[in-house]
Order: sequence, then structure tokens, then C-alpha cells
Amino acid sequence: MSVYDSLGVQTIINASGTVTRLGGSAMSETVLDAYQDAAREWVPLEQLQAAASKMIAQVTGAEAGLVTSGAAASLTLGTAAILARYDLSRMEQLPNTEAFPNEFVVAREQRSGYDHAVRVAGAKLVEVGFNEIVSGAGVRRTEVWEYEAAFNQRTAGILYVYTPDSQPALEAVVDLAHHHKLPVLVDAAGQLPPRANLMLPSMTNADLVAFSGGKAIHGPQSSGLLCGSKDLIASAALQMLDMDDHWELWEPPPDFIDRRKIKGMPRHGIGRSMKVSKEEIVALITALAIFASEDPKAKNDSHRGNLQLIVEAVEGPTVRCELIDSAGEERTPILEITLSAADALEICRGLRKGSPPIYVGHGKLAEAKLVINPMCLDRNAADTIARRLRKELEHYKPSLD
Ligand SMILES: *Cc1c(COP(=O)(O)O)cnc(C)c1O
Repeated sequence: MSVYDSLGVQTIINASGTVTRLGGSAMSETVLDAYQDAAREWVPLEQLQAAASKMIAQVTGAEAGLVTSGAAASLTLGTAAILARYDLSRMEQLPNTEAFPNEFVVAREQRSGYDHAVRVAGAKLVEVGFNEIVSGAGVRRTEVWEYEAAFNQRTAGILYVYTPDSQPALEAVVDLAHHHKLPVLVDAAGQLPPRANLMLPSMTNADLVAFSGGKAIHGPQSSGLLCGSKDLIASAALQMLDMDDHWELWEPPPDFIDRRKIKGMPRHGIGRSMKVSKEEIVALITALAIFASEDPKAKNDSHRGNLQLIVEAVEGPTVRCELIDSAGEERTPILEITLSAADALEICRGLRKGSPPIYVGHGKLAEAKLVINPMCLDRNAADTIARRLRKELEHYKPSLD
């Protein structure tokens, strides 16, 4: 009997990928072993974070890194670091930021629910640009001059949400920001793979970059990374770690937190509610080492095989299957199934209501598409999806046949 059975909670087949709503990613046996080993002993957390920082620096090319409780927490801590730096009084005031620069400039088209994570530290978002392509009223994206026009005495930094399509290019925004001595905080939570994106901090000179640990890195679901400049990472660590110690006794590793840069010992900071356990730190670092060193080719080949199984079961005159697959690149292949006779929302609902419940990607229902993300599927699960999807589609009497 599984732990979920004993709680009376039904397990599902997750064809949506490593989404938080369904439990994120799965940890490998190696990562679970590391988690268990870590849970059996004790270490001062700042020393463990300092060791993690060195490892994160190696794989990202950043000066330093911090294990956080998720990319959203990384955004909050990164914002807190930019707002307060080494100023103890500011650390204590957050999220009250009336007395110092608190504006973060962000492209209107890059706003989402995740920017709560930036606002919660006390930042005030100042939008630039328009979303005129989505509104159907124009053809242009946000431009560099629009950022510059928004800078003033109250500007603290820039929030940038990175995707391969983000405009203007991150490098151009970083150049402009640094010209004005402003830092750039980048949300790249879900932008792995490709592994090359781990190097975003060093490739783009961005000051801080946030990644999720519970997505493709396959670390603990509630883990994340913040990587970037040494001073900002130290400030973020100071505002997250448990600070209940004596200044006279407290000895953080000096290459992680340099005591000489602060006037005293801050109290628990705004990030204290985002604490990370020793087990999670060790598990994430273990998962990160595997992710950074492993060629995903074999995994992607296996994903392709699983998706092909579904294609063969359901493809037909009113069911079009398209494999979104950038061969040669590291991105995970994705299957899009376009239904021209059946109602995609109803099929989605039917799959969720069956046994076991199947959750397919629902991001393109408005285009009559079901999306199958293979990251959390094995052969058996793919078989079940193929069979159940075929059955759901049989309910539909195609109006044109
Ligand atoms: C997933 C995601 C987040 C949140 O990441 P967590 O690790 O779940 O906190 C933030 N921003 C974007 C763009 C994401 O895709």
C-alpha cells in the first residue's frame, strides 16, 4: 500500500510535465539516497550553503549561488538583496521600502502571477512597453529605450523574464542597466533544458538569475537556485538564513558571507519563511550535478518512443498529431494533439475523471489541442494514456464522418 493510498489520495498519471500543481518532478534514486544521508546528520546551514554556492558557481559561471525554496523564493530573495544590499536597517524594514529606491522596471508583456514574488519583498513594479501584438493593435515588442525612459532616482533594478523569445534581448537590457549602475534580476525558472542556459549569469552578465530546482533539474519540488554576484548572494543568504546567534561567535565562511561588509548581525529577515533544509540543499546539489553532466539524448529518445506510442493509437482523420521536437537540441520533445471533431476541454475532463486520472497539458485547449509532456511518463503510463485517449475519442461521433 502506498503512502498515498493510506491517506486516501488517488495517484494520477502526469502528462503535463513538472508542474507544481501536480507535484513537480521526480527525484532519482541517487538524489533520494543523498536526501536520506543528509537527513541523518547535522551541519551549520551557512557552511552547507557556502559549499553549495561553490558548486553552483562552477556549473553556472556565476560568482556565487544559493539554494532556495523554489524559483519564486529566489525572486523574492533576489529582490530583497537588491533592495537592501548590506544595509541592516533596510533588511529590517522590508517589505516597507518607502525610505529608499524600490522601483523595479519590467516589460508589460513579461508580467505574470509570479511577479507577486518580487512585490512581496517590497518592490514596486513599473511597467514599460505595451502588449500590442496580443491586443492586436500593433506589431512591436518592448524596446530598450523604453526601459531607459523609466529610470529615475527611485529605480532599484530591472526584472526580466527570460525565454528564447523575450524581447529586447537580455544582453541589451543588462548593458543598459549596468550603464546606469542598476542590477538585473532574471526569472529563468523553467528555461532548463538546454543545459547551456545554466550559463545565463556568465553569458549575459545578469546580476541575479533564478531557476527552479523542482522542474527539469529533478531536485526536490520545493527547491530552487539563485545565482549571481557574490555581494547580492551574500545579502540574499543573510536575509534567508536563521540568524539567531551571537556576533562574537558567528563565523560564516568568509568567501560566502564576508562579515567585514556588515555592521553587525541582522535578525531573521524577510526570507526566513522561505527556509531550505539540509536535506533539500544536498538533494538539489546532487540533482544539479547530474543534470549538468548528463547528455539528455538517451532520455529524449525514450520520451520520443513513449510519445510515438500515443500517436499510433490516436492519429486519424479528425485527430492530428504533431511532435514538437527540436532534434539536435536538448529540449524535451512535446506531443500536440489537435482535435477537429471532439471538444478538447471535454476530453481533458474525461481523462481527469477516469481511473487512474490522467492530467494532460491544457495550455492550448483554446486551439483545440491536448498537449502531452513526456517528462513524468514511463512506458506503462504512455500505454495507459494511449488506450484511454482512444476510448475517450470513441465517445465522440465525428459530425463529418
Ligand atoms: C515555474 C516558474 C516559476 C516558479 O518556480 P518555483 O520553482 O515553482 O517557485 C517562476 N517563474 C516562471 C516563469 C516559472 O515558469
